[in-house]
Amino acid sequence: MRNVLPYASHHEVLNPATGQLVRSVPATTPDEVDAAVFLAAGAQQRWAALAPADRARLLRRFAIAVDERIEELARLEVLQAGHTIGNARWEAGNVRDLLDFAAGGVERLSGRQIPVPGGLDITILEPLGVIGVIAPWNFPMPIAAWGMAPALAAGNAVLLKPAETTPLTALRLAEIALEAGLPEHLFQVLPGAGDVAGGALVEHPGVAKIVFTGSTRVGKAIMARCAERVKRVTLELGGKSPNIIFSDADLEAAVAATPMSFLDNSGQDCCARTRILVQRPVYDRFLELLAPAIESIAVGDPADEKTQMGPLISQAQLNRVRSYVPDELPGIRGTAPEGPGFWFPPTVLTDIAADAPAAVEEVFGPVAAVLPFDDESDAIRLANATEYGLSGSLWTRDLGRAIRVSRAVAAGNLSVNSHSSVRYWTPFGGYKQSGFGRELGPDALTAFTETKNVFFSSTPRVQEV
Ligand code: NAD
Repeated sequence: MRNVLPYASHHEVLNPATGQLVRSVPATTPDEVDAAVFLAAGAQQRWAALAPADRARLLRRFAIAVDERIEELARLEVLQAGHTIGNARWEAGNVRDLLDFAAGGVERLSGRQIPVPGGLDITILEPLGVIGVIAPWNFPMPIAAWGMAPALAAGNAVLLKPAETTPLTALRLAEIALEAGLPEHLFQVLPGAGDVAGGALVEHPGVAKIVFTGSTRVGKAIMARCAERVKRVTLELGGKSPNIIFSDADLEAAVAATPMSFLDNSGQDCCARTRILVQRPVYDRFLELLAPAIESIAVGDPADEKTQMGPLISQAQLNRVRSYVPDELPGIRGTAPEGPGFWFPPTVLTDIAADAPAAVEEVFGPVAAVLPFDDESDAIRLANATEYGLSGSLWTRDLGRAIRVSRAVAAGNLSVNSHSSVRYWTPFGGYKQSGFGRELGPDALTAFTETKNVFFSSTPRVQEV
C-alpha cells in the first residue's frame, strides 16, 4: 500500500506575472529537519572554533560570491516573486552588504571587563548554537540574510525555512555559500510547509533560537510554542504604517514620494505607508496632485526595466486584497494588466472611515487609505490608532514638530521627510503587535549570542598570606 504523507511532498513555485509553473520543490519532512539540525550542530562547533579572522574572511568570500551572481539571483527573484528587476538587483545586493557588514563584526564581538572587588570579572559573548530563520515570501533574500548573516558571524549555524511560494533564491544562496567555501551543513535551506518544516524547527530542542518574520497570527503561535521550551525568539510581524503630511510640509516633495511608499513591491511590504494622514488645509490639494502620480505608475512585466510595480505573489493574496476593496469604495485607481497572473491596480481609498478594515488592517497589497486630520495631537492619535507599530513617516518643515511627533508615534522605525525604514546599518523592529527584538544595526550580532559572566578570584590562598 502506498504510504501517504499527512502533508505535501512538493510545493509548486509559480511565476506570479503569468501563473505558470516555474519549478516544483521537494518539501522537507520533520525527519529531514531532525537530520539537518544534527549536522548543523556539528558544523557549528567547528565554525565557532575557527579563528575569528578566518570566519570573517569566509563571510567576505560569501559576500563576493553573491556580488558576482547579482544578476542571476535577481532574475530568479523576478521569476518566482514577480519583483521588478530593479528591486530584485537591490535585494541581491543587500544580501552582499549584510554579509560584508556582519563579517566586519566577527573580530569586534567583544565582551566587557567589569570592575568588581576581589578579582577580575569579564563577560564573554558565546554563540547560541543552531538558529532557525523562518522567512516570508515578500522579501525572500533580504529577510533571510537579516537573520543568516549576523547569526553566522556570531559563530552560529543557520537553518533557513523559506516561504512555500519563494524557496528558489534561498536554495541558490545556500549553494553559493558552499561555492564560496563555507563549511558544509553550516547554512542549510529547508523548503517546505510552515507548520511542517517550520513547525519542526520551532519544536526541535536542538534549535536554540527562532527568528521569525511573517504574519502576526503565525508569530503569536510560534511565540507560544517557543515559550514551552524557553526558546529564544525574535518576531518581525505585520504593519499598518502612517505617512503623516502636515500643512507646513513641502507638499510637492511629499506627493512625489507617496506612491512608491506603499506601491513598492506591490504593497507587499511590512513597512508600506498604507495610512496617508493629511492635514485638512492641504487635503484637497494633496489628492489633486496625487491622482496623476498614481494613475501614471507603470504596472506590468517585472522583467522590464521601466516597470515600477509588478504582480501580487499569488491568487490567494489577490483574493485577500480584493476582499478589502469593493468596487463601490471611492478612490484613485491606477492600471494593471488583464489576463493571467495576479494583478491588482494601485489604489488610494478616499472618504473611508478611520476604523474601516482597509484603514486599520494590513492589506498587503497596493492599497492605501487617505484620512484627514485637524492638528498635531489629532495626527498622533490617528497614527497610533492601530495594533501595529512598525514604521512611519512624517512630512513637515517645523523641526520642533518633527521631534515631538517622532517621539509620540509608537513605532520602531520613523522617518522625517522621507520614507526610509530598513537600512542594514541601523536597528529595525516593531512596537506593539509588530513584534519584538531588533535586527540589523550595530548590535545585530549580539542578538545571536548568550552573555556569560566569569569571575576570577584574586584572593590569595590562606597559606600564602
Ligand atoms: P506567514 O506568517 O504566513 O508565513 C511566514 C513564514 O512562516 C513562512 O515561511 C511560512 O511557511 C512559515 N509558517 C507558517 N506557519 C507556520 C507555523 N505554524 N510554524 C512555523 N512556521 C510557519 O507570512 P507571509 O504571508 O509569508 O508574509 C507576510 C507577512 O509577513 C505580513 O504580515 C508582513 O507584514 C510580514 N512581514 C514582516 C516584516 C517585518 O520585518 N516586520 C517583514 C516582512 C514581512
